[in-house]
Amino acid sequence: MDTTSAAPPARALPMHAPMRQFPAKGADLIVGGQSLRELAAALGQTPFYVYERALLAQRVAELRAALPTGIHIHYAMKANPLPALVGCMVGLVDGIDVASAGEMHLALAQGADPRCMSFAGPGKRAQELHAAVEAGVLVNVESFRELPLLAQASQDLGRAARVAVRVNPDFELKGSGMRMGGGPKQFGVDAEEVPRLLAEIGRLGLQFEGFHLFAGSQNLRAEAICEAQRLSYELALRLSAHAPAPVRHLNLGGGFGIPYFPGEQPLDLGPVAARLAELQGRAGREMPEAHLVLELGRYLVGEAGLYVARVLDRKVSRGQVFLVTDGGLHHHLAASGNFGQVIRKNYPVAIGNRMDEPATESVHVVGPLCTPLDLLAERMMLPAAQEGDLVVVYQSGAYGASASPQGFLGHPGCLEVLV
Ligand SMILES: *Cc1c(COP(=O)(O)O)cnc(C)c1O
Repeated sequence: MDTTSAAPPARALPMHAPMRQFPAKGADLIVGGQSLRELAAALGQTPFYVYERALLAQRVAELRAALPTGIHIHYAMKANPLPALVGCMVGLVDGIDVASAGEMHLALAQGADPRCMSFAGPGKRAQELHAAVEAGVLVNVESFRELPLLAQASQDLGRAARVAVRVNPDFELKGSGMRMGGGPKQFGVDAEEVPRLLAEIGRLGLQFEGFHLFAGSQNLRAEAICEAQRLSYELALRLSAHAPAPVRHLNLGGGFGIPYFPGEQPLDLGPVAARLAELQGRAGREMPEAHLVLELGRYLVGEAGLYVARVLDRKVSRGQVFLVTDGGLHHHLAASGNFGQVIRKNYPVAIGNRMDEPATESVHVVGPLCTPLDLLAERMMLPAAQEGDLVVVYQSGAYGASASPQGFLGHPGCLEVLV
């Protein structure tokens, strides 16, 4: 063996998946048919979030084309509760899943059909449960405590509460960004306690409709999602033997992820669709009244949105370039790396008015806040940017404005527009 050539081969750095959803024309990124520069001028201010209707519709259409027919697609609106966007989603999906009475009222005001809505969350207040029963929204029961409150609301309103049981399963979703089921959790009722809960639902005369399982979020591994859905289905089937009525609604969760960070690839829907078709076949025999539901948040809206901030200053500190922008973690906590990430990584970022220039310099993109946490990109290769340029953060349609501490440090809030 030739030991003189033992230097390790240069390892390619992981790259962001290509962002192709918004086209470029010359120097300009195009959003909703116009250049980002024109849009920023028309809005008269930065920073802003912009979401594109056509991309929302395209995403749902592609998902429907990939999945077996008959699978219900629900939008989990906590991903992006902008009223206009929720209104747009109401027209595209089969139902809206809410996590508070506030979200419920917002969705109803946007025209959502209460019969196709469900309400989940570990700490529902008595007034919230009452409001859900009044509206006719399905309540995903997460605690024994909710049952007498639902029974009381049913009695007061003269209509039986519609309920499903959110089960805390006895397995976890592998490869998930955020685990929300398995082990001790505040979500749902432990699988082993569910037969007793079901008996209580029957005794109180509530209208039992099915089960809700949600194993976790931001998963890019098709096999892990398939496995979680199969285990969820089988658990629901076992529990259905104890149910006071046939299962009509079986919400298998979702957790479909989108590529945010270098090295991540889009989820392959092929295997997920194939396994769901099998489960649907089984359901036709084993729970013939049940329809299968997927509840998706970021997968439906995340890629359709951009966060846009303007470069206020270009500073050089000891040889490193800092693009100081008017936007930051107060509007986009997730891109700063402080919304549930363990290790900070960069979202995909571009200069929206220099799309035709090569990335020639490594820069830090920061915000105006007096904290080192206010970082939108670290050591990112970008075209040489100047004051006034528009920094674009891709994959920003979910968990952006509503999931950020806008009051922190008293800077202006950001606009949100749907184009
Ligand atoms: C947050 C949440 C979702 C949406 O998660 P995404 O990762 O945005 O798809 C769906 N269902 C439940 C119960 C949730 O809490």
